[in-house]
Amino acid sequence: MIQLVDLDKQFASIKNEIMAKIEEVLVSKSFVQGKYATEFGAQFASVLGCQFGIGCSNGTSAISLALEAAGVKDGDEVITTTHTFIATAEAICHVGAKPVFVDIDPETYTIDVSKIAARITNRTRAIIPVHLYGHPADMDGVMAIAKKHGIKVIEDCAQAHLAMLNDCFVGSFGDAGTFSFYPGKNLGAYGDAGAIVTNSQDMATQTRLLLDHGRDTKYYHKIVGYNQRMDGLQAGILLVKLKHLKQWTASRQAHAARYDALLKDIPKIKLPNAKPNASHVYHLYVIQIDNRDKVMEHLKQSGIAASIHYPVPLHLQPAFGYLGYKIGDFPVAEEIAGRILSLPMYPELTDEDIQFICGEVKKAIQ
Ligand SMILES: *Cc1c(COP(=O)(O)O)cnc(C)c1O
Repeated sequence: MIQLVDLDKQFASIKNEIMAKIEEVLVSKSFVQGKYATEFGAQFASVLGCQFGIGCSNGTSAISLALEAAGVKDGDEVITTTHTFIATAEAICHVGAKPVFVDIDPETYTIDVSKIAARITNRTRAIIPVHLYGHPADMDGVMAIAKKHGIKVIEDCAQAHLAMLNDCFVGSFGDAGTFSFYPGKNLGAYGDAGAIVTNSQDMATQTRLLLDHGRDTKYYHKIVGYNQRMDGLQAGILLVKLKHLKQWTASRQAHAARYDALLKDIPKIKLPNAKPNASHVYHLYVIQIDNRDKVMEHLKQSGIAASIHYPVPLHLQPAFGYLGYKIGDFPVAEEIAGRILSLPMYPELTDEDIQFICGEVKKAIQ
């Protein structure tokens, strides 16, 4: 069986380092937002070329913390893409704001910048571009619109650790970048974890206050905050894994190149299409095909776990029914939802695995 993501192989390769770190954290008793969380935040920011890095409880809270720190509140509108994991839009609701969806670019699957301006109103406070699958959104376009209208930009980087655009890491373009370290992400903890990176001292200070009960010093609370602190064990684990991230990312990119080479001659299959100024980190390797469900079933029969990210765009999810969108509102996202298929992708995938998968895709299509 070839999994979509195989965490066993990665654990086997770093087991000694991880177990030593777990023991170190347990002995230190630095369990919650302590020295490991602080150290991880600083190291992660430094890797990305950002001034501040703040660990937090997960990728969803990272987005809502960044929005609240940026001043987004009840009654505001926040523009984002309809083709993303639901957490992006949920975080907007968590601060009392209203998600306003936009269709995607058919090549990169990220927000279609040419369609943002028409959605801006006098209540728009922020835009959340999502670097989906590991491909950077068009940040030049997003930042130009945000600057023109005086609105904030929070980058959802949950799938794009170390992805680059014009030689800068994603997360460093907007007012803040938010990351998830959910176990299956490119950098994954062994539980929930997240982070916010920013170059703004204000954003950093405000985020740190919000995630820890608005605490200035022990039992002195400046504002009403939350408990969205980072777990110390997860921070320790992430410190170990961060050292391997560059190598793991390079492996993903090599696997994507192998997939491209083996699949490119199959007719009627659309491959991922990275922009020339972008470095795609392939959190997911997503193709488009006719008869997607039939192909997925064939792969399953052959012991290959493929999946769909995501089968229903957010504007058509029951959870957002109250927003009043309907079928036909975002035709690109709606069309690809029936055609996309995520093939297995993780650093430890072997060349044999990829050859086998591509052979089975070919058989299923013919
Ligand atoms: C995983 C993910 C999140 C949420 O992260 P959690 O750590 O699971 O809360 C947000 N946005 C996107 C695009 C994601 O893929």
